[in-house]
Amino acid sequence: MTVADLLTEDERRLLLELVPSVDPRRVTAGWLPAWARRGGGIGALAVAWPGVVWLSPKAHGLPRRSFVALLAHELTHLRQMQSGFVGFLSAYAVTYLVGRAKGRSHLEAYSEIPAERLAREVQAKALGPR
Ligand SMILES: [Zn+2]
Repeated sequence: MTVADLLTEDERRLLLELVPSVDPRRVTAGWLPAWARRGGGIGALAVAWPGVVWLSPKAHGLPRRSFVALLAHELTHLRQMQSGFVGFLSAYAVTYLVGRAKGRSHLEAYSEIPAERLAREVQAKALGPR
């Protein structure tokens, strides 16, 4: 199953517009393992890994627009990983740890990671005007 299989044609086009370098037809969609769904914090609705978006069953319970916007968020992370997964991961971890060292909570440190800020911007664009 690919991410495109979860989308209508219009939704796929929207995501390609927002994240041009990541074709949802080339991204595998999988189920997030239970341990990751429990795991603190990122224990989220979805996780991106090179070539894959892992979705929690809860993601499918989202309103349609929020679901598509969540995929926009994850595809943005895949785009960020295109310039090097190790670089992405270390920048991600370092900015998180620096935030924690400054006394930020888990959620604050996580949300201040530049890759997360950018992914949230794209996610908001996918949600569109309310
Ligand atoms: Zn994210």
